[in-house]
Amino acid sequence: MIDRLREEVCALHAELIRWGLVTWTSGNVSARVPGEDLLVIKPSGVSYDDLTPADMVICDLEGKLVEGEHAPSSDTEAHAYVYRHMPEVGGVVHTHSPYATAWAARGEPIPCSITAMGDEFGGDIPVGPFALIGSDAIGRGIVETLRGHRSPAVLMDRHGPFTIGKNAKAAVKAAVMCEDVARTMHLARQLGPVERLPAEAVDSLYDRYQNVYGQKGAR
Ligand SMILES: [Zn+2]
Repeated sequence: MIDRLREEVCALHAELIRWGLVTWTSGNVSARVPGEDLLVIKPSGVSYDDLTPADMVICDLEGKLVEGEHAPSSDTEAHAYVYRHMPEVGGVVHTHSPYATAWAARGEPIPCSITAMGDEFGGDIPVGPFALIGSDAIGRGIVETLRGHRSPAVLMDRHGPFTIGKNAKAAVKAAVMCEDVARTMHLARQLGPVERLPAEAVDSLYDRYQNVYGQKGAR
């Protein structure tokens, strides 16, 4: 199981590049190891071109290294905090993708004004508190903002997006969609004021997309 997760998490890092979400060594994907208090995450500071499944590191849910030749990503504590406090979460992603991070720089939620946002996020993409790396503060801010919220994405204030999912692939999808709608809503705002969709329309979009849309079991 852990070997399969190493391969999956390594391959998902290539998706961050493919969708233009990361620069240099920034960004990280992790997956919970089902049934164990462990997670698989990217090592710190290794170039994306050089990442192999064997480079992925295993940490406990306090963020401490359990197995691996490299130090874990410097964001591991935040990922670990989310897994400790949100048992339904199986994957976490963090990037500094430019459009989502531009909204974070303003400390402004992305308003739910297009159907794609109703579908994926069920409302605005919220802003989490400003927090510095090196304590539980980032993880706590993610959990406090996303617990009980439909959105799988939070824009940490003056930092950037963190996304969650039932597995690592779902969290990567949320990161890709978050950047996509952040870009579209930025473009819309250049044209003039933008109004939010009515709450009933958002509820209906979200319900249909989450429960009816697509191939059964594909998401
Ligand atoms: Zn960051």
